[in-house]
Amino acid sequence: MGRITLDKVTKKFGDVEVIPPLDLTIEDGEFVVFVGPSGCGKSTLLRLIAGLEDVSGGEIRIDGKPATDLPPAKRGLAMVFQSYALYPHMSVRKNIAFPMKMAGMPEDEQKRRIDNAARALNLTDYLDRRPGQLSGGQRQRVAIGRAIVREPAAFLFDEPLSNLDAALRVGMRMEISELHKKLDTTMIYVTHDQVEAMTMADKIVVLRAGNIEQVGSPLELYRNPRNTFVAGFIGSPK
Ligand code: ADP
Ligand code: MG
Repeated sequence: MGRITLDKVTKKFGDVEVIPPLDLTIEDGEFVVFVGPSGCGKSTLLRLIAGLEDVSGGEIRIDGKPATDLPPAKRGLAMVFQSYALYPHMSVRKNIAFPMKMAGMPEDEQKRRIDNAARALNLTDYLDRRPGQLSGGQRQRVAIGRAIVREPAAFLFDEPLSNLDAALRVGMRMEISELHKKLDTTMIYVTHDQVEAMTMADKIVVLRAGNIEQVGSPLELYRNPRNTFVAGFIGSPK
């Protein structure tokens, strides 16, 4: 489960239309990357899907069900924030447990899900540490763990690696791709980094000023960019 469809979704801030009517289908299990220059609307689009912003028009459906008016907690999606959103005074275990505790989940079920997430992320030996005692990559994994325990229909990432150094970023990209294979769950990943898009995506959505310029696999976009913007962005000549 994790098919997401946007039907003529628009977003205005005041009089400014940041997202003109936009149609998009994300298939169950797909790794979709939204890529485009700063300010093109990537975060806004992700926040509309997450329900952190209300649409100005159009419809969002998740697994066929209308989701446009559902609050974020009822959409069954999990947003992964950058690792600095962790609680520094809480252990890794408590950080990961936090959303489940808020939802009033029974303790034994919480424990089962924490153990699963820790295993998937190689964090089993670090559950009793605090974020300050972890490396940057481990902290980012904890932030992902907090999403995994919700067992979401899809994971939403907004430039999760942008505050990591270059070497660590390469490693985390591979870990997130690995995790996608393990979990087989829809992932939507926002980045302005072409390399990230080309190496991680099943499907790339190229955005410019809130418009979808092109949607396709990395190879399709590379071989057959629709225009010079896409060509320039993906880095192949046209
Ligand atoms: P990106 O994530 O691609 O950098 P954003 O989605 O953050 O782009 O922003 C898209 C456009 O919407 C930008 O012009 C930005 O200034 C504007 N915008 C984003 N959020 C708000 C807001 N809460 N109020 C007004 N304008 C906003
Ligand atoms: Mg953004």
